[in-house]
Order: sequence, then C-alpha cells, then structure tokens
Amino acid sequence: MSPNISINGEVALVTGASRGIGRAVAERLAAHGVNLLINSREESRRALDDFAENLAGRYGIRCLAYGADVADSKAVFEMYSYLFKAFGRLDILVNNAGILGDGLVGMISDEMIHRTLAVNVAGSINNLQNASRLMQRSGGGSIVSTSSIIGLRGNPGQVVYGASKAAIIGMTLSAAKELGPKNIRVNAIAPGYIATDMIKHLNADIHAERVKSIPIGRVGSAEEVADVTLFLVSDLARYVTGQIIGVDGGMVI
Ligand code: NDP
Repeated sequence: MSPNISINGEVALVTGASRGIGRAVAERLAAHGVNLLINSREESRRALDDFAENLAGRYGIRCLAYGADVADSKAVFEMYSYLFKAFGRLDILVNNAGILGDGLVGMISDEMIHRTLAVNVAGSINNLQNASRLMQRSGGGSIVSTSSIIGLRGNPGQVVYGASKAAIIGMTLSAAKELGPKNIRVNAIAPGYIATDMIKHLNADIHAERVKSIPIGRVGSAEEVADVTLFLVSDLARYVTGQIIGVDGGMVI
C-alpha cells in the first residue's frame, strides 16, 4: 500500500495561527482530522477563540486556543503545560509566529533588533525546545519552522529580518541532527512572497517589482504554503529531515 497523509487523530500546535499562513495551516491540519492548540498573542485572543470554535465545529476535532507571546519563555512553557494537560501528547509543531521589521542599515533601532530576534529566533527556539520534550514522551514527531527566502537570499532593508530568518535555518539543521535519533523530524519552509497582512504595507511599485521577480508570475497564497507544511508533517515526508523547502514560485532560482 502506498503511504498517505495519515495524521488523523494526531495533536498539533500551530503558533501565529490567528492570521495568514498559520491560520491556513491550522485549517489544513483540521481538515485532515488533527486536534489542535492554536496560538497567537493574547491581544488577538478573541479572534483566535472564534477560529478555534469554528474549526472544531466544521471538522469535528478538538481545537483549543492559547494566547502567549512566543518571545516569553515562561509563557511558552506554560502553554505546553496546558497542552499536555488538555491533550496528553504532541505530534506536530508548526513554528510559524513571526514579525517583520524593515530598516535600512544605519537606521536600525535597538528596539527593532531585540524585538525581531526575540520573536522570530528566541520564540522559535522556545517552542522547539518545549515541543521536543513532549514529542519524546510519545515516541517522536515532526517540527516545521518558518524561515523565509530573505533568510536565504537577503533583501535591501531587511538586515534584521534576514538575520532572524537565517537563524531559523541554522536552528533547523542542528535540531534535525540532534533530534533525528529521537524520531523527531525537523524541517523548515522558506516562503517567498505570500499574500498576507505581512506584505500589505508595501506600495504598488514595490509589489509590482516583487511579482516580476517570480518565475511563476504571481503572489503565493497562504494555502499554498500550508499544503507544503501538510506534506512535511505527514507520513509522505517520513524520510525527510533537515531540509529547507522553498515555497516561492521560483523566486530563489
Ligand atoms: P501575519 O502577519 O499575517 O501573521 C503573523 C502571525 O504571527 C499572527 O498570527 C500573529 O499573531 C503571530 N505573532 C506575531 N508575533 C507573535 C508573538 N510574539 N507571539 C505569538 N504570535 C505572534 O504573517 P504571515 O502569515 O505572512 O507570516 C507567518 C510566518 O511566515 C512568519 O514567520 C513570517 O516571517 C513568514 N513569512 C511570510 C512571508 C510572506 O510573504 N507573508 C514570506 C516569508 C516568510 P497576532 O494576530 O496576535 O499578531
């Protein structure tokens, strides 16, 4: 028999699930019968609660919401304690929460450096660490973190963001080597230019220029990124670890 997605009944945590890519990932996992804890900042808790209720109702899964700033290691630890009490196990982490701060060299503030690295880098490591502890208890699992094409190729004005997304790659490669023997696969995706709130602030000229640099000739959707994430957490990717998968319409070529 050929392998299949076979994640029905598993338990996943998706960070940054109130909007954009994380929301689309939560929707895909729910549609495949995965029970979920979805996360975003406490500030958007109401929207997150509504989304959790909506997913549970439409797909017949258990879905709970948890507001926590991923940069706060104590809050993240408490989120995993809550998850363990509620579900008793963890099979999948989608380490997706992230922020974008643009700034040209010479104009970068301390605040931007510290906050971007705290959320994008420390936040991802906080989750990876807590998730891998729980996964070991239940025999293994799969972690997918969100890097970016900017972490691979760079972009003017994105020194801090690029550094934070390159760090996700280093984290993923080391963790894949360390956690492979514990039956935990660790991969990352590197999205290109994806239509979410994160790119809304760009003006029409920059938007047109970005689209021109995409061989497939259009912006990507959050759902297209979610489909690749679904593949990576499923049995179809059971021999895939330590990989950085571009989801960018060919931008990186
Ligand atoms: P959005 O801005 O649409 O969504 C970001 C999500 O992250 C929201 O759910 C937000 O929650 C959450 N979040 C932000 N800060 C924190 C925090 N401190 N603690 C917990 N949750 C937080 O972004 P995208 O969906 O576009 O981005 C998702 C990921 O994909 C990010 O890591 C981003 O860097 C990456 N990416 C995006 C690309 C794009 O073109 N869109 C390209 C390449 C990578 P809240 O609602 O509470 O703010």
